[in-house]
Amino acid sequence: MAKRIALVSGGMGGIGTSICKALAAAGHTVVTTYSKPGKEQAWLADMKEAGYQAYAYQCDVTDTAACQAMVEKITQDIGPVDILVNNAGITRDATFKRLTKDDWSAVISTNLDSVFNMTKPVIDGMVDRGWGRVVNISSINGQKGQFGQTNYSAAKAGMHGFTMALAQEVAKKGVTVNTISPGYIATEMVMAVPEDVRNKIIAQIPVGRLGKPEEIAGLVNYLASDVSGFMTGANLAINGGQHTM
Ligand code: NDP
Repeated sequence: MAKRIALVSGGMGGIGTSICKALAAAGHTVVTTYSKPGKEQAWLADMKEAGYQAYAYQCDVTDTAACQAMVEKITQDIGPVDILVNNAGITRDATFKRLTKDDWSAVISTNLDSVFNMTKPVIDGMVDRGWGRVVNISSINGQKGQFGQTNYSAAKAGMHGFTMALAQEVAKKGVTVNTISPGYIATEMVMAVPEDVRNKIIAQIPVGRLGKPEEIAGLVNYLASDVSGFMTGANLAINGGQHTM
């Protein structure tokens, strides 16, 4: 398989770390972003110890100019980005009655504006080179909606609208754009939920367990590969059978 440069936003989080490791294990050079300093040295050391080629750049994905500047720097330092995984995301849950404009905007901006900010500076290069992969990490809650998550559900559903439209615009140029919609995955965020609540969540998953970050990463790896070239504009559910559409 061809070795390429993969840029993963939020690649030091629960799912992001697995995505970075899977792409690196496939031989790609992996670059990730983080917004809060502190974890990057340990992350880089871990990747180096595994023998992977990995880099980390600090960048707030809600900042359009910072994303543009970061991609320019990556291109100069390492080379052009062929694979982009839009994975950075946050939640700020509240019922709509209690939802503030700040919590609405933070979630839309981190989960959805970020997709514009990160894709814009890489897509022309992919088109010019005749090969590229964009993978957007959405959520089951963007497919079915979730009580207390009007902001997150709207942002995650919006990601897939973006996917379907951009996929059509770049389809003839060897560039694919796809969405992955994970269900509940065993990351720190979900494991921090009280055990009784977590058990209620698990009871609704036909497979009878939470998903593993590596299961999401495996699908990203497939979508980032050469053999996935006929799959574009898709929204791939990976949720233990909890919801299909
Ligand atoms: P984490 O909270 O572990 O990771 C999120 C990552 O996003 C962090 O690395 C964080 O970096 C980064 N991030 C957040 N805000 C910004 C910002 N403004 N600029 C740059 N980076 C930012 O979450 P998960 O690994 O659980 O989730 C990854 C993705 O998967 C998210 O999009 C999430 O919505 C989605 N998802 C998760 C599910 C789950 O069950 N865990 C289920 C369905 C979807 P930093 O700390 O440096 O800000």
